[in-house]
Amino acid sequence: MMKSEKKEEKDWSAVEVMQEVNEKLSSYVDALEQRNRELERLRGLATLLQSCLTVEEAHAVIARTVRKLFFAESGAVYLFGSPPQALVPVAAWGDYVPAGNFLPWPAGWALVQERSYSGDGRYFPVLCSDGKQSGQDICFCAPMVSQRETLGLLYVRLNGNLPKQNGADRRRVIQYKRQLTVTTAETIALFLASIKLRENLYHQSIHDPLTGLLNRRPMYEFLEKELLRTTRKKQPLGVIMIDIDHFKTVNDTYGHGAGDAVLREFGLFTQKHIRGGDFACRYGGEEFLLVLTEASLENVKQRAEQFRKEARLLGVRYRGRLLDPITLSLGVAVHPEHGQTAQELLLAADAALYQAKADGRDRIATVRQHTIAEHARQL
Ligand code: GH3
Ligand code: MG
Ligand code: MG
Repeated sequence: MMKSEKKEEKDWSAVEVMQEVNEKLSSYVDALEQRNRELERLRGLATLLQSCLTVEEAHAVIARTVRKLFFAESGAVYLFGSPPQALVPVAAWGDYVPAGNFLPWPAGWALVQERSYSGDGRYFPVLCSDGKQSGQDICFCAPMVSQRETLGLLYVRLNGNLPKQNGADRRRVIQYKRQLTVTTAETIALFLASIKLRENLYHQSIHDPLTGLLNRRPMYEFLEKELLRTTRKKQPLGVIMIDIDHFKTVNDTYGHGAGDAVLREFGLFTQKHIRGGDFACRYGGEEFLLVLTEASLENVKQRAEQFRKEARLLGVRYRGRLLDPITLSLGVAVHPEHGQTAQELLLAADAALYQAKADGRDRIATVRQHTIAEHARQL
């Protein structure tokens, strides 16, 4: 071979190498851009979840957003509903069609394991071939776990859009998609758990644990809102403040457990006896408050009287023993006759309750303005 021919061949191979390197670089840049877009979407998911106030809102965001994150793949999001009986698919995309509530093949294993540990103690999802499909597809099942509670499951199946050769590039893509699946599942788990915790704390803060009734806090909000509404509509609104008579005697005679049983039963009785739209709360100790919307003074008095009579028939049992019937004293006040604001109405109902007690208990009472004013002075 001539010297010049040799040089040309060398130059050609250099060009080919350059071309190959360029192609590789440009495919890396594409991949990086793609990853950037995916990470941006993941951040978007986190931001949206952060603004969710309820689990339902979060479920809707997850169902909408995760499919966009894995739009090139197939998959599904499974979440536990409320009550958490079964994992339910809330979103599915690509070729994957959930079979009713059946989970994709590796999910059971992933859930039973809850998490697997690699050598360095870090969590990784189940990586498997989905034998039931093409035998080639790679899928990931990442349980959404927080504080040892499984909240859901993310299933992602790579649709064969992987580098064909079984080389380092292919392994890198699989590794990346697996990490994205895990990070997404972990992000969702973290936010879902925090929203659930917030919901639980809020629920606890507005409920009385013994009777399950709402407590004073939401009652004030309800009463103020209802007063605005009824004033606008020129409708009446009534409140009934109820106190169980001689309740201390129940505790003294049968013990605190029996007293608790009476309060619990009375709470249930109250819940059963109010109409939709009305409001019942445990006001404190053995005192309860009812807010009756769109009810005139006559209506409210009738309802209070009915309440008094029926509470006598409650028949609470404690440790197999029938306790003495309870009697009630009830103070009735109505807007606008007895007060304009929530505070004024509550004061009027309290004054009326004092009157019922003073008159001999086991009765209902209403009072006039001067008695309310006198009551306020004595508080
Ligand atoms: P009155 O007819 O004047 O209302 O008499 P009373 O005994 O019902 O009223 P008093 O205010 O003297 O006593 C209320 C009692 O209620 C005292 C308190 O120990 C009891 N009590 C308050 N909360 C609870 C509770 O959650 N469980 C039980 N078992 N008792 C409670
Ligand atoms: Mg009391
Ligand atoms: Mg009492």
